[in-house]
Amino acid sequence: MNDCVFCRIARGEIDARVFYHDDDVVAFADIAPMAPTHILVVPRRHITDLNEVTSADETLAARLLLVAKQVAHAAGVAENGYRVVINCGPDGGQTVPHLHLHVLGGRVLDTCLG
Ligand code: AMP
Ligand code: ZN
Repeated sequence: MNDCVFCRIARGEIDARVFYHDDDVVAFADIAPMAPTHILVVPRRHITDLNEVTSADETLAARLLLVAKQVAHAAGVAENGYRVVINCGPDGGQTVPHLHLHVLGGRVLDTCLG
Protein backbone atom coordinates (compact mmCIF):
# COMPACT_ATOMS: atom_id res chain seq x y z
CA MET A 1 0.00 0.00 0.00
CA ASN A 2 1.21 3.51 -0.71
CA ASP A 3 -0.23 6.82 0.33
CA CYS A 4 -0.20 8.44 -3.10
CA VAL A 5 -3.36 10.56 -3.28
CA PHE A 6 -4.47 9.28 -6.70
CA CYS A 7 -3.77 5.65 -5.73
CA ARG A 8 -5.95 6.26 -2.68
CA ILE A 9 -8.75 7.74 -4.81
CA ALA A 10 -8.47 4.74 -7.17
CA ARG A 11 -8.82 2.42 -4.16
CA GLY A 12 -11.84 4.37 -2.90
CA GLU A 13 -10.03 5.51 0.26
CA ILE A 14 -10.41 9.20 -0.55
CA ASP A 15 -13.69 10.62 -1.80
CA ALA A 16 -13.84 11.94 -5.32
CA ARG A 17 -16.58 12.56 -7.84
CA VAL A 18 -15.94 9.58 -10.09
CA PHE A 19 -17.04 9.87 -13.72
CA TYR A 20 -15.69 6.59 -14.99
CA HIS A 21 -13.89 3.52 -13.73
CA ASP A 22 -12.80 0.16 -15.03
CA ASP A 23 -10.15 -2.37 -14.05
CA ASP A 24 -7.31 -0.17 -15.27
CA VAL A 25 -8.49 3.45 -15.35
CA VAL A 26 -10.37 5.89 -13.09
CA ALA A 27 -11.65 9.37 -14.02
CA PHE A 28 -12.72 11.86 -11.37
CA ALA A 29 -13.35 15.57 -10.90
CA ASP A 30 -10.36 17.79 -10.16
CA ILE A 31 -10.64 19.22 -6.63
CA ALA A 32 -9.59 22.71 -7.84
CA PRO A 33 -11.16 23.01 -11.29
CA MET A 34 -9.53 25.37 -13.80
CA ALA A 35 -12.55 25.20 -16.13
CA PRO A 36 -16.26 24.33 -15.79
CA THR A 37 -15.32 20.78 -16.77
CA HIS A 38 -12.04 19.58 -15.27
CA ILE A 39 -11.68 15.83 -15.02
CA LEU A 40 -8.57 13.81 -14.25
CA VAL A 41 -8.00 10.45 -15.92
CA VAL A 42 -5.53 8.18 -14.13
CA PRO A 43 -4.26 4.62 -14.36
CA ARG A 44 -5.11 2.54 -11.27
CA ARG A 45 -1.52 1.32 -11.23
CA HIS A 46 0.91 3.79 -9.78
CA ILE A 47 2.93 5.29 -12.62
CA THR A 48 4.77 8.39 -11.48
CA ASP A 49 4.77 10.36 -14.71
CA LEU A 50 4.90 10.15 -18.49
CA ASN A 51 8.64 9.44 -18.31
CA GLU A 52 7.83 6.16 -16.59
CA VAL A 53 5.51 4.94 -19.37
CA THR A 54 7.11 2.26 -21.54
CA SER A 55 6.14 0.38 -24.66
CA ALA A 56 4.75 -2.32 -22.35
CA ASP A 57 2.13 0.27 -21.38
CA GLU A 58 1.02 0.94 -24.95
CA THR A 59 -2.48 -0.46 -24.44
CA LEU A 60 -2.93 1.40 -21.17
CA ALA A 61 -1.71 4.67 -22.72
CA ALA A 62 -4.24 4.34 -25.53
CA ARG A 63 -6.93 3.46 -23.00
CA LEU A 64 -6.23 6.63 -21.00
CA LEU A 65 -6.66 8.72 -24.14
CA LEU A 66 -9.90 6.99 -25.09
CA VAL A 67 -11.30 7.44 -21.59
CA ALA A 68 -10.39 11.14 -21.81
CA LYS A 69 -12.46 11.36 -24.98
CA GLN A 70 -15.28 9.37 -23.41
CA VAL A 71 -15.55 11.55 -20.30
CA ALA A 72 -15.43 14.68 -22.47
CA HIS A 73 -18.45 13.33 -24.34
CA ALA A 74 -20.21 12.34 -21.10
CA ALA A 75 -19.58 15.81 -19.64
CA GLY A 76 -21.11 17.41 -22.72
CA VAL A 77 -18.03 19.33 -23.85
CA ALA A 78 -17.01 17.21 -26.82
CA GLU A 79 -18.94 19.13 -29.44
CA ASN A 80 -17.56 22.57 -28.52
CA GLY A 81 -14.11 21.16 -27.85
CA TYR A 82 -11.81 20.55 -24.94
CA ARG A 83 -8.16 20.16 -24.05
CA VAL A 84 -6.23 17.14 -22.77
CA VAL A 85 -3.06 17.97 -20.84
CA ILE A 86 -0.33 15.88 -19.25
CA ASN A 87 2.11 17.75 -17.04
CA CYS A 88 5.38 15.91 -16.52
CA GLY A 89 7.94 16.72 -13.84
CA PRO A 90 8.74 20.01 -12.11
CA ASP A 91 9.28 22.08 -15.25
CA GLY A 92 6.05 20.68 -16.69
CA GLY A 93 4.16 21.83 -13.61
CA GLN A 94 3.31 18.36 -12.30
CA THR A 95 2.32 18.57 -8.65
CA VAL A 96 0.87 15.10 -8.05
CA PRO A 97 3.41 12.36 -8.87
CA HIS A 98 0.91 9.88 -10.31
CA LEU A 99 0.37 10.03 -14.09
CA HIS A 100 -2.85 11.86 -14.96
CA LEU A 101 -4.53 13.44 -17.96
CA HIS A 102 -6.42 16.69 -17.40
CA VAL A 103 -9.60 17.01 -19.47
CA LEU A 104 -10.56 20.68 -19.58
CA GLY A 105 -13.60 22.19 -21.22
CA GLY A 106 -16.79 24.17 -20.86
CA ARG A 107 -15.21 27.51 -21.77
CA VAL A 108 -12.87 28.89 -24.38
CA LEU A 109 -9.41 28.01 -23.06
CA ASP A 110 -6.36 30.26 -23.27
CA THR A 111 -4.21 29.66 -26.31
CA CYS A 112 -1.09 30.00 -24.16
CA LEU A 113 0.75 26.72 -23.65
CA GLY A 114 3.25 28.06 -21.19
P1 AMP B 1 -0.72 18.50 -11.91
O1 AMP B 1 -0.37 19.89 -11.47
O2 AMP B 1 -0.72 18.30 -13.39
O3 AMP B 1 0.10 17.45 -11.16
O4 AMP B 1 -2.23 18.29 -11.49
C1 AMP B 1 -2.62 17.79 -10.25
C2 AMP B 1 -4.08 18.08 -10.12
O5 AMP B 1 -4.60 17.26 -9.09
C3 AMP B 1 -4.41 19.52 -9.73
O6 AMP B 1 -5.23 20.12 -10.74
C4 AMP B 1 -5.13 19.38 -8.40
O7 AMP B 1 -6.19 20.30 -8.24
C5 AMP B 1 -5.62 17.96 -8.46
N1 AMP B 1 -5.85 17.30 -7.17
C6 AMP B 1 -4.99 17.24 -6.12
N2 AMP B 1 -5.53 16.52 -5.12
C7 AMP B 1 -6.75 16.11 -5.55
C8 AMP B 1 -7.80 15.34 -4.96
N3 AMP B 1 -7.72 14.83 -3.71
N4 AMP B 1 -8.92 15.12 -5.71
C9 AMP B 1 -9.01 15.62 -6.96
N5 AMP B 1 -8.07 16.34 -7.57
C10 AMP B 1 -6.95 16.59 -6.86
ZN1 ZN C 1 -0.24 6.66 -7.18
